[in-house]
Amino acid sequence: MKDLVASAERRPLPGETLHGTGFAEFLGGKGVNQAIAAARMGARTAIVGTIGADRYGDEFLDLLAADGVDTTWVRRHPSLGTGVGLPLVLPDGGNSIIIVARANAAITPAEVTAAADALTGGQVLSVQLELPVEASRAALQLASAAGVTTILTPAPAGPVDPSLAAYVDILVPNEVEAAALTGLDCDDESQVPMIARKLAEDWDLHGCVVTLGSRGAYVLDRRGDYEERVPAHEVATIDTVGAGDAFCGSLAASLADGAELIDAVRLANAAGALSTAVNGAAASAPSRAAALALLDG
Ligand code: ADP
Repeated sequence: MKDLVASAERRPLPGETLHGTGFAEFLGGKGVNQAIAAARMGARTAIVGTIGADRYGDEFLDLLAADGVDTTWVRRHPSLGTGVGLPLVLPDGGNSIIIVARANAAITPAEVTAAADALTGGQVLSVQLELPVEASRAALQLASAAGVTTILTPAPAGPVDPSLAAYVDILVPNEVEAAALTGLDCDDESQVPMIARKLAEDWDLHGCVVTLGSRGAYVLDRRGDYEERVPAHEVATIDTVGAGDAFCGSLAASLADGAELIDAVRLANAAGALSTAVNGAAASAPSRAAALALLDG
């Protein structure tokens, strides 16, 4: 998704043309952000998806190549352009956003199957729900059948197709997503273990990791038979956008490297914290060395 962000004093009225106060462009999307985060943690990383045969698509390929993400399985749609987001940001931080998914919405299960080499050839597959659910399911199903560890970020928040559960090993919701899936409230610290347990049982998971923003994360590992609250690192936070993606990409990289879930969560917790000390989403994921330094410090 290419974001074209306009700032203005207020929303335009119907029929009105309004002068804005600022403009910025960002390349984003959870898949891209997580792939870059995983690559920066040192994992050999490939991404599967569809972009347009346009200049925004070219920008994505350049961005991914700069971090060594393999784009062999990124398809360029013959007629639909790269997905775009048009956020309007107001002085109080409020926003209104128009999203036009274009090529993002066009990926089919058959195209996912064509990327089987990428989906079954690695140690870990990380999936988000910004594609049509049939495509996400096809990817999870292929990887799961091949014995690849599968991680699902259930974002954007909302009800999730229950047929995905059979193919997910580790679920990583943030507070809003966890609340949407369980009806329970993460703000109430005493509920967090119940949320993780409920999701682990309902989804028959190997592990559930609830990310809790500035409060860190909660991990439940059913295989290792433990639960642990991992407190956040204190950093000079300036922009929390993309923290969850830095967390999930790092978690995937660490698991691919053979780490236990709790150790992967500790590294991801450091990576998520560091990403909040830098502006941007994809651009804010830290290096492995920086995350390890924070962990050891
Ligand atoms: P999302 O970006 O999906 O909303 P979170 O806000 O839960 O996800 O953040 C993901 C992870 O990033 C957290 O679990 C934590 O490890 C780290 N993190 C987020 N915000 C902060 C913060 N203010 N200080 C330290 N770590 C943070």
